[in-house]
Amino acid sequence: MGNILKEILKKLPEDSISESGFEGANIVLYTKSREFFLEAQSQIKGLVNEFKKRIELRPDPSITMETSEAQKKIRKIIPKEVKIDQVIFDPPRSSVILHVDKPGLAIGKQGSLLREIKENTFWIPTIKRTPPIKSKIIDEIRSVLYENAEDRKKFLDKTGHRIYDGWIRGKKDEWVRLTFLGGAKEVGRSAILLQTPESRVLLDFGYNVASEENAYPYMDLPEFHPKDLDAVIVSHAHIDHSGLVPFLFKLGYDGPVYCTAPTRDVMSLLQLDFIKIARESGKDPIYTSEQVRKMVLNTITLGFDEVADITPDIRITMYNAGHIIGSSIIHIHIGNGLHNLVYTSDLKYGKSILLPRAHKSFNRVESLIIESTYGGKEDYRRADDNPDEKLKEAIKTTIGRGGKVLMPVLGSGRAQDVMVMIAKMIQNKELDSVPIYIDGMVWDITAIHTAYPEFLNRDIRDMIFKKDNNPFLMPEFKRVGSPKERDKVINEEGACIILATSGMLTGGPSMKYLKELASNDKNTLIFTCYQAEGSLGRRIMQGEREFTLGSGRSRELVKLNLDVSKISVSDHSDRRELMNYVRDITPKPRKVIVQHGEKGKCMDLGYSINKKFDIEIDVPSDIESIRLK
Ligand code: ZN
Repeated sequence: MGNILKEILKKLPEDSISESGFEGANIVLYTKSREFFLEAQSQIKGLVNEFKKRIELRPDPSITMETSEAQKKIRKIIPKEVKIDQVIFDPPRSSVILHVDKPGLAIGKQGSLLREIKENTFWIPTIKRTPPIKSKIIDEIRSVLYENAEDRKKFLDKTGHRIYDGWIRGKKDEWVRLTFLGGAKEVGRSAILLQTPESRVLLDFGYNVASEENAYPYMDLPEFHPKDLDAVIVSHAHIDHSGLVPFLFKLGYDGPVYCTAPTRDVMSLLQLDFIKIARESGKDPIYTSEQVRKMVLNTITLGFDEVADITPDIRITMYNAGHIIGSSIIHIHIGNGLHNLVYTSDLKYGKSILLPRAHKSFNRVESLIIESTYGGKEDYRRADDNPDEKLKEAIKTTIGRGGKVLMPVLGSGRAQDVMVMIAKMIQNKELDSVPIYIDGMVWDITAIHTAYPEFLNRDIRDMIFKKDNNPFLMPEFKRVGSPKERDKVINEEGACIILATSGMLTGGPSMKYLKELASNDKNTLIFTCYQAEGSLGRRIMQGEREFTLGSGRSRELVKLNLDVSKISVSDHSDRRELMNYVRDITPKPRKVIVQHGEKGKCMDLGYSINKKFDIEIDVPSDIESIRLK
């Protein structure tokens, strides 16, 4: 048993606790005494203050009310207007989750209704909002977690023991160092190994979809052993950061994955799609859905600003990065004050349609790892470059001549930005109402956005909650869910707008649409995201107008007659915003490490940061290590 548990149990009346254990960094106690459960709350609060850990007292599963009776009781306590859609019991944890339309009302004044449920049923209630758009992936993740509730409980307890049972490596004189397995002087396969005297932690593990020979991060380094990793932290769901996380489980990893809840949901979806795309193009997928399932089971979600111990000498906190829903800047506190590292991953330090601006103040920062996707000196967005206007013009012109607008999108981030932009244009009558087709996965990711409005910025939350005007629910948005429906969209007469993945034309339905819409000069192709070197999107941007698609018999020459344009709003910071971030971050870091950008951009941003702010900089290459302390 972890020492901390022994210490806590000593402070409580003998025999009051029937079982004690961990849920990751949280401590959970179970009691078989109803009286003790009802009376001990202030005692537990005292322990939380004393030990500075989250400690929760729960009724032992043996004293909870029988589920059907509890369900009746709960429905009696909660007012009708709340509208309970689902009641899900998690017996090993004595917890019950209520999915409701009006979470605020369900909680009651200062939590009075929740307390009433606890005291009457001995189940611990959690209230969740029913997403207005049904999401298959959220339902699937939920059922994976509940069908494996016992395994999950054991896994969380094991994770807690690794955090609290003391040092196992014990080389206290070892350095803190970072090794770049990918994503240094390049974009596409982010993976950073963090080694401390006690811990081995991986920050992101991405796959580069735009390059066959440089698709994987470097894995044959002597210091990289997937089985020995203590934790994996995923900054956000894009494939170049999360794409190979399930592959780690194939390599024998069995530890925790830390990220936000929207990141977990979106990355599972993108990974399952990644498997599907491989199969469709006749390749063996790198991993299977079984490993995605395993990843979900081992994922511990954290909210923004929530502090969590993840190993004996590492404590992390995630903050909003402003890049896509759930995307995080990760603050890593190492060795009780030895070193503080901030990993921005992809960040947007500027106005965004969906998200708040990236977080910038921390208690301590010695080293900062920053991205440089648009860090080059030519990457200043011009003040007169108004993407809303440009998008409006391109769409209006195309619709006006009865053409179709095809927008290849990343699935997450820009796609939903664009949806909100179009929704506002139609509401303001700047654009005629036309059907807007949202192909498969983009729709699923939109549904995830509606499930986590607390991650969106105030404008959108106000539209949803105060004005009852959820932009994602506009009737013009129509889901395309099958190849048959896709054909219908392509063959349908008249104007429309189509949003489909992949964003760089490296696979997925956007390729199919392009092939069919390419020859008609009434149509327009609008790029909305970063186009990686080597991708078809980049080649078209550079002027290529003829290329072959498919292989073998299905090989086909495609000639582009449609208009091509690029809207330059990005969910990344431009050069100015990156410089401003380094200027504004508090406290001022001693060292800035520049990565996640093409070589010249990383070098250039690094040089400018050094010159302007007099901060030591490092621009590593792949497989290079940097000593932090
Ligand atoms: Zn990203």
